[in-house]
Amino acid sequence: MANVNKVWFVGAGPGDPDLITVKGRDLIARADAILFAGSLVSEAATRWAKEGCVIADSKGMTLEQIVGWLIEQAQQSKTVIRLQTGDPGLYGALIEMVQPLDEAGIETGVVPGVSSAMASAAAGVESLTLPEITQTVILTRMEGRTLMPEGESLQELAKHHCTLCVFLSITLLKKVQQALLDAGWSKDAPILVVHKASWPGEEKIIRGTVADIHDKCKAEKINSQAIIIASPTIGARQWTDLKKSRLYDADFSHRFRHADKQIEKG
Ligand code: SAH
Repeated sequence: MANVNKVWFVGAGPGDPDLITVKGRDLIARADAILFAGSLVSEAATRWAKEGCVIADSKGMTLEQIVGWLIEQAQQSKTVIRLQTGDPGLYGALIEMVQPLDEAGIETGVVPGVSSAMASAAAGVESLTLPEITQTVILTRMEGRTLMPEGESLQELAKHHCTLCVFLSITLLKKVQQALLDAGWSKDAPILVVHKASWPGEEKIIRGTVADIHDKCKAEKINSQAIIIASPTIGARQWTDLKKSRLYDADFSHRFRHADKQIEKG
């Protein structure tokens, strides 16, 4: 495969350059050309790229220009990277870029990344799932200029009372609050907002409730690059009545570990 020209869509992670995967970093180190998506991922691109690697910022480029750049580079270089924030498969226009590359006969590959949703939960030391509380996570956004497909309004999704990780919606926080209330969430339900999750020195964690999270974020001047996590699991670190996971229960056998009782019997 060494001589095949290929465009890799690499997840750069949420901001901390150390949160790229080893595979992503190794690809960057041997890339001939890298097109990164704005300031969020410039650090990873420049930190590990080899000398002579062509590095460009796609800020201000249209999708057509991005695809044109990738095709042009792929025609002369072996390894071309489109470096994207978080995971390329989440709100990253991945397929819109892959299709024209397919048409141009250029090979593509995707390296997943740590999504900002995961980094936000980590920042707050939160678990997105908890036994008997919720076992489901929905990654979504508020309707803005991008319309939501039928059945996917936040109000409808929130009726599941599971974990909701809301992207691209910090400027619509009042609407998020209303959607949760309309879906039957209590005004006191905890909400976590993380701004620039994992960015060294710039991360901000705001804790509030459905009723006051907007005011708290306003006071902290948070109006971009933030994830809103609404979940019945938020704040569980402080709970005194936590239900334990069966996975580590002494009475619970699974494939890799026999329950103590069975070991005793054996
Ligand atoms: N593919 C990316 C999401 C891109 S959409 C991922 O997997 O994370 C851009 C949105 O992602 C932003 O509006 C914001 O909601 C979120 N985002 C990206 N980086 C972030 C970060 N470091 N902290 C909090 N939210 C972030």
